[in-house]
Amino acid sequence: MNTTSYGQPLFPEMRYCARCCMPESNEGMQFDEMGICQACQSSEQKIRINWVEREKELSNLLDYYKSLNNEYDCIIPISGGKDSTFQLHVLTKVYGMRALAVTFSHNWFSETGKYNLQNCLEQFDVDHIMFTPNRSLVNRLARQSLFKIGDACWHCHSGVGAFPMQIAVKYKIPLMIWGESIAETSGRATHRNPVRKFDRDYFTKVSAKRYPEEMVCDSISLRELSGFKLPSVEEIEAVGVVGIHLGDFIFWDDERQMEFVRDVYGWREDKVEGTYKHYKSVECKMAGVHDYTKFLKRGFGRGTDHASVDVRAGLLTREEAFELAKKSDTERPPALDWYLQITGFSNEEFEIVMAQHRRDLGIETLTDEKFSAAIENYRRSQVKP
Ligand SMILES: [Zn+2]
Repeated sequence: MNTTSYGQPLFPEMRYCARCCMPESNEGMQFDEMGICQACQSSEQKIRINWVEREKELSNLLDYYKSLNNEYDCIIPISGGKDSTFQLHVLTKVYGMRALAVTFSHNWFSETGKYNLQNCLEQFDVDHIMFTPNRSLVNRLARQSLFKIGDACWHCHSGVGAFPMQIAVKYKIPLMIWGESIAETSGRATHRNPVRKFDRDYFTKVSAKRYPEEMVCDSISLRELSGFKLPSVEEIEAVGVVGIHLGDFIFWDDERQMEFVRDVYGWREDKVEGTYKHYKSVECKMAGVHDYTKFLKRGFGRGTDHASVDVRAGLLTREEAFELAKKSDTERPPALDWYLQITGFSNEEFEIVMAQHRRDLGIETLTDEKFSAAIENYRRSQVKP
């Protein structure tokens, strides 16, 4: 009987990074001559970066923006997640920045997420602006999003990029400070060559994929989408908006930071669908669906992302990581029923749309037959005799 064996990846024919569990189907994936992915290369570089120098760079940069004497020194886009709380700690308590916290609400906040967001506003005593698109629009966009980009979350990908930028332009606050470096997880940058410049279209290119105009359909009009519109290039340049990630300047340690914000500021963990970690995306009730659609499209979900991070950090062996990843990635999240309910998709329609997205990617090792066979094999291997 052909079953997936312990410590092996879900798709035996797919190429995976030689060090972690990331497959070739990851967007922008590049392997070096040793077969190692960019995120792994980046994690090696991370220990050799001169972080003292990088921190000095940060300190000078923040001093410059403070010296402008604007109403606010910077915008901190926050979701209430552990990164948000840590960003607020570093920027307000360590560097004394006068920050305006800005939240684009996906309108899918979990109870823990609501608590965490309110808690960090109280703890750091910051002014806050939040935009929440109305319920029916969110439902309609969540449906259109599945057709257009193959996940449930266009409104969130798009809004978290656009709304803080609208505020930056409106209030003339040139500096936006994000959290984790993109060198940590994606194939788009490494610690040696970080992306420091965020042009206007950055978030559209990397996550939203579609401009608001492209989401218009019978049930969605353009005038409903003002919260998602990017300011013009001229408006952005007039204010001189720049975005930086703290993780490019200070050594980023997810686990430690989570423990720190939990113990010092009362930040709360929660169970999150689609992963074995309890501190990522706790603010969102739909996270499990987002990750499951990634799995249906690319053959890996957030279990793989997190397990790979833990391999790089030396917390798991690659074999242990593959086991955890397979289990998390293949689980149908309970929130999917809720997603189907708010969008009007049947389960079958949902699967047809996702299978089409997978075919469109044209990944040889993820044909319909191979995809179903791999899951079938894995499920069979889990059944105790
Ligand atoms: Zn890797």
